[in-house]
Amino acid sequence: MNPIGMHYGFWSHNWDEIQYIPLMEKQARLGFDISEVASAEWAYYDDAKLRELKACADHNGLKITYSIGLEPKYDLASDDPAVRETGIRHVTRILESMPKVGATVLNGVSYAGWQAMPDYGITMDEKRRKEDLAVDSMKKLMKVAEDNGVLYCCEVVNRFEQYLLNTAAEGVAFVKRLESPNAKVLLDTFHMNIEEDDLVQAILDTGDLLGHFHTGERNRMPPGSTRSLPWEAMAAALKQINYQGALVMEPFVLMGGSIAYDIKVWRDLVPGADEAKLDQMAADACRFLKELTA
Ligand code: MN
Repeated sequence: MNPIGMHYGFWSHNWDEIQYIPLMEKQARLGFDISEVASAEWAYYDDAKLRELKACADHNGLKITYSIGLEPKYDLASDDPAVRETGIRHVTRILESMPKVGATVLNGVSYAGWQAMPDYGITMDEKRRKEDLAVDSMKKLMKVAEDNGVLYCCEVVNRFEQYLLNTAAEGVAFVKRLESPNAKVLLDTFHMNIEEDDLVQAILDTGDLLGHFHTGERNRMPPGSTRSLPWEAMAAALKQINYQGALVMEPFVLMGGSIAYDIKVWRDLVPGADEAKLDQMAADACRFLKELTA
C-alpha cells in the first residue's frame, strides 16, 4: 500500500497563514501518512522550530514531503545568471534542511520558475536553450540532493503554469539528462488530464522514473469526489510499474486569498464548506486512495 498524503493548502486561504502543528495533528486524525509542506518556509525555520515540527510529525506518525513552486526570482532557467545563482542557493538551503525533519522527497515546479512564462511564443530551439539553462542549474543541485538523501522530483504541469515540462515524455527526457539516481518525475492527475493523450500510458511510460504522484480531480476537487478520471486504471498502472512512492492529494476548493488567486479558483466549488465539511472531504479522499491502492 502506498503512503497517502495531503498538501498543506487545502484548509487555508493564504500561503503564509499555515499553522503546521494543528495542521499535522488534523491530517493524522483524518488518516493521512504524509504531510506535504511548503519548502520555501521550512528551509528558513531555525533548527529549534524544525525539531519541534519533526517531533509533532513523529508523534503523529507522519512523514514530511517538501513541495515547491519556485518563485520567478529563483528561476533556475532564467537568462540572468544572477537569478539562476540565487535559485541554486535557495534550493540548496531547502535540500540541506530536509534531513533535519526526515524528509526525502522534494517535489513541484523545482526546475524553473512557477508561472514564469516567456513573454512571447517560443520555438523548439528556444525551448531547448531554456532547458539547457535549467539542466545546468539542476546538475549542480543533484549533488546536494544526493548528499542529503533527497529524491528531487520535477513536476510535469499544464501549459498555463510552465512551458518546459508539460507531458510525462518531456519530464522523462529532462530527468534523464540530469544523470542522477535521485532525479525523478512527478506526475499530477490534474495536469495530466489537460496535457496527456492517455493518462494510463503516461504513467506506464514514466515507469521507474516516477518519484512522486499528485492526485486531484479534473477541477482539483479531492480525488474520488467526482470520479472524473480513470482512477482504477491509473492505480493499476502504478502497480504495474511497481510504484512504491506516495500519493499526495492537492485539492484546492476555497475562494479568496493568495492561494485561490494563484490556483485560479474563481467559483465556489463547495458551497457552504465549513471546516467540518472540508475535514470530511479530506478523510473521504484519503480512504478512497487507500482503497484504490490496497
Ligand atoms: Mn501538483
